[in-house]
Amino acid sequence: MTSTIDPKTIGKPGARTVRKHVRSLTGYTPETDETGKEKWPRGDEKAWKTSMRGLDTDIPSITKSIVGHVQTSLAQQAHNLDDLGAYQAAALSVRDNLILNWNETQMHYTRKEPKRAYYLSLEFLMGRTLDNALLNLGLKPKYDDSISQLGFRLEDLLEQERDAALGNGGLGRLAACYLDSSASQELPVWGYGLRYKYGIFQQLIAPDGSQLEAPDPWLEHDNPWELPRLDVTYEVRFYGHSERLDNMKAVWSGGQEVLAMAYDTMIPGYETKSTNNLRLWESKPKRGFDLQSFNAGDYERAVESSNSAAAITSVLYPNDHTTFGKELRLKQQYFWTAASLADIMRRFKNLGKPISEFPDYVAIQLNDTHPTLAIPELMRIFVDEEDVPWDAAWQLVTNTFFFTNHTVLPEALEKWPVPLMQNLLPRHMQIIFDITEIVVSVVEKKFPGDRERLARMSLIEEGYPQNIRMANLACIGTRKVNGVAELHSELVRLTIMKDFVDLYGVSKFSNVTNGITPRRWLDQCNPRLSNLISETLKLPKAVFLKDLYKLEGLLQFADDPAFQKKWAAVKQSNKERLAQHVQTTLGLKINTHAMFDVQIKRLHEYKRQTLNIMGVIHRYLTLKDMTPAERKKVNPKVVLFAGKAAPGYYVAKLTIRLIVNVARIINADADTKDYLQLYFLPDYSVSLAEVLIPASDISQHISTAGTEASGTSNMKFCLNGGLLVGTVDGANIEIAEEVGEQNVFFFGHLTPAVEDLRYKHMYHPVPVEQKCPPLARVLNEVSAGRFGDGGVYEPLLNTIRQHDYYLLTEDFDSYIQALKLVDEAYQDRTEWIKKSIRTTAKMGKFSSDRAIQDYAQEYWNIESTKPE
Ligand SMILES: *Cc1c(COP(=O)(O)O)cnc(C)c1O
Repeated sequence: MTSTIDPKTIGKPGARTVRKHVRSLTGYTPETDETGKEKWPRGDEKAWKTSMRGLDTDIPSITKSIVGHVQTSLAQQAHNLDDLGAYQAAALSVRDNLILNWNETQMHYTRKEPKRAYYLSLEFLMGRTLDNALLNLGLKPKYDDSISQLGFRLEDLLEQERDAALGNGGLGRLAACYLDSSASQELPVWGYGLRYKYGIFQQLIAPDGSQLEAPDPWLEHDNPWELPRLDVTYEVRFYGHSERLDNMKAVWSGGQEVLAMAYDTMIPGYETKSTNNLRLWESKPKRGFDLQSFNAGDYERAVESSNSAAAITSVLYPNDHTTFGKELRLKQQYFWTAASLADIMRRFKNLGKPISEFPDYVAIQLNDTHPTLAIPELMRIFVDEEDVPWDAAWQLVTNTFFFTNHTVLPEALEKWPVPLMQNLLPRHMQIIFDITEIVVSVVEKKFPGDRERLARMSLIEEGYPQNIRMANLACIGTRKVNGVAELHSELVRLTIMKDFVDLYGVSKFSNVTNGITPRRWLDQCNPRLSNLISETLKLPKAVFLKDLYKLEGLLQFADDPAFQKKWAAVKQSNKERLAQHVQTTLGLKINTHAMFDVQIKRLHEYKRQTLNIMGVIHRYLTLKDMTPAERKKVNPKVVLFAGKAAPGYYVAKLTIRLIVNVARIINADADTKDYLQLYFLPDYSVSLAEVLIPASDISQHISTAGTEASGTSNMKFCLNGGLLVGTVDGANIEIAEEVGEQNVFFFGHLTPAVEDLRYKHMYHPVPVEQKCPPLARVLNEVSAGRFGDGGVYEPLLNTIRQHDYYLLTEDFDSYIQALKLVDEAYQDRTEWIKKSIRTTAKMGKFSSDRAIQDYAQEYWNIESTKPE
């Protein structure tokens, strides 16, 4: 390891910035004999081969393996084993299978030397692993039997696992779905991210209804799904100074060095041995550096440096769709990109190919702008360390990277102050300035004298201080840029990237509509539905779980009453499963005979949970106005919310507080509680989504048009036969194209109207009383304290009364109208079930397998390859 570094050499000019300490794991080059046959690498081949473990997956072998782990890995016995211990033993036993497949897959890649793709994402929202691994390995029934024999229930053990929640929401969950699809399609793809000690915070609800945040100690118990790689470490430098040499080169030295250590998580493909890797980096203090301080007698500084090194990967920033320039966040970004690129570089070098062939073996996808520092970092490696001339290096870099944009919201576009970058990463600041020169010269050539255009396109935004525009850097330094749904990609071309479209032509900017993995979001979360589909289509599950277009076969059964009955029974049992879950976790009783209306996603003004809660209050007031006889005709409804707000997002947190307090009043009102119930389920997570989604009749995706890039939970609901109330936004549009507009409840203004409306709100405001009286009534009831704490909600209400940037007053009437149509449609239950069946049947396009194939073919140029 690293304690052998001589402190005297630290910071000396010419020292390599990223030194390698890797006992090569996957960099093994097999030796061959004269005939070209691979030689056994060491010792007695027979002794090795007769001793190597195979995959015995009969029930007695599984039981033996679980009990073996109880005895040795956990040092426990039958009499003191609880559900947690049994879970851990089962997980370790499953992990053995994954490791053997992982080894074989990685050795296969090493031998075959295919081009590989790397998915760089600061977030991976993986959820739980055991159930998913069992399903992908095809071992669930056997483990179920074996675990019962040992006196436990598999369902109980599955509940013991903590979610790996290293992500905020959609972006991180997308990365997780993409890993599943890559492995399932036998594509050589690795993920790179950070191993945060604390994932997204745990959400608690205070007595007054507001959100509290607690740390998420997901590593409290051993995490059986990761392998620490003590021998895969890299040094990462911060601060110091960079001295320019000639030929655009420089020497970066001094400052602070920290260690990145790898943790590997195995990603099993579905019905294949192919098992890919998610490599997460943990930061550690570098011993050699500490030693120097100790020698200088500066004990305190040495201790401080070890604290700050560990801090880098301690916590995931809980912001979704906003950025604020915290130095530690920039440190995380560089730490992760530097370690990942050093690792990728080492693997490439093991191939023994000339550096000019780098893009023939490596494709790197940047998931949003968070990993954009990879662009200057790879330039630094090529130019400063590998002696590649600047222009040639730029060619290689721009042929290696691809960039996915996830939002056009202005507050989400990453910018970093130049002074901060200058101080933390002086060499990268120089490189960014040098890349700016490239931009200037190409723009100057194509648009001579167009200074305004140049100012917009520059990597540097003028101001005090100047800022670096990461989206511009990500665009300039990559081969292709994509948005995540058709509308969004079009908006990218028309707004934030317009000048770059003029410069490069439109072909650099395209679309890959997001997808979801049907393994987790159909088979795992809704086994009853997946069984019914298999039985009805007379197809093994593997057929439609690998080719989701096969669901179209359900269309011919949509009118079959016997099938409709079974379909409805599955939905009903999923509602009861959810009700049971809520009963045991929260002690609440849900009416399972009502329509379930669900909105679960991060809390954000653009997602308009406020519109939903105002709609609920409107429904409540309408019910109160009715006579008991009139109410009896109303279709009972349960409205469910879940979602976290960023800890510093005041208005979003106020929305949660309002929902919780409205729920208290409504659910206690004897006049209405049989017709309307409202729940806010705390601590939204992947695991909670897996229970909620299969139970929904209708779900809400009601962002202001043009603000939701794609959405993926809309796909999850529709795949599970839930219908959609939505605005004409993101992937809602493509879902409607597939399932037919008659099966979707659309409302609200369209994207082209939004800008004009906002302009009017700004310069010709009309009071809400005039513009939308029903909404005004709702706002006034809240103000007047009908749901408690009247004054508390004023800042939230004022966002609507004043600028109404997200246009609630413009969309409220058509929203209420859409909900009325939902009620009417639900009255004709047979017709509703048909819509539900047709929706599921047409969800083929939204498999993440399709999205990953698109990336593999149109972007990365990689091919499937698997061990025999
Ligand atoms: C799918 C998913 C999301 C994304 O939801 P959207 O409604 O598309 O924003 C967020 N969080 C979790 C836990 C998810 O599973």
